[in-house]
Amino acid sequence: MSMITLALSKGRIFDETLPLLAAAGIEVLEDPEKSRKLILPTNQPDVRVVLVRATDVPTYVEYGGADLGVTGKDTLIEHGGQGLYQPLDLRIAKCRVSVAVRDDFDYAQAVKKGSRLKVATKYTSIARDFFASKGVHVDMVKLYGSMELAPLIGLSDAIVDLVSTGNTLKANHLVEVERIMDISSHLVVNQAALKLKQAPLRRIIDAFASAIPAPKN
Ligand code: AMP
Repeated sequence: MSMITLALSKGRIFDETLPLLAAAGIEVLEDPEKSRKLILPTNQPDVRVVLVRATDVPTYVEYGGADLGVTGKDTLIEHGGQGLYQPLDLRIAKCRVSVAVRDDFDYAQAVKKGSRLKVATKYTSIARDFFASKGVHVDMVKLYGSMELAPLIGLSDAIVDLVSTGNTLKANHLVEVERIMDISSHLVVNQAALKLKQAPLRRIIDAFASAIPAPKN
């Protein structure tokens, strides 16, 4: 029996993947919030979970360090998706990628065609494409976290970041001025593994498909 390795990141993606695993009869035997282990066993001897940084999930799956993984569309776009089979939108960990500015900043004026805008983000690829489509020149400041701080201390005019409830923006006197795209997490599978371990992977993919939450209206 060959081992199946699933890459997940801690937090929302891990929590919201558990019901999908349950549909496949898979139960993770340790709580990542309590354990420091990076490889978690499951009730299925041939299935294990590895915990990696959210942005590393596509890389682990691409190079076969994991057979499959769950990753946000935002992360997938920034990674490029090379070598990954993407069979399912799991409709979990939903949020959006938006542009936000200080509430006293005149965004409409700042994005007049041909203007320049200083943008801080970890989503440089999404931000670049978005502003290019509007004909706005961007000076990009690449950050890895706490993007909300950048406009407050004059590091940038705008940020491109994930927004869920909007509470983080509000708490920092920022306003969402444009919604770039809706985001949810997707199942990604290593293409070689899909051929070599076809039966067990298909079983997991089909169980996940049957347990995807229904769209909310
Ligand atoms: P909120 O205050 O609910 O709008 O959440 C915004 C903060 O949570 C930002 O710092 C985001 O980077 C982060 N965030 C929101 N949704 C997600 C998600 N689905 N995955 C990862 N981070 C998220």
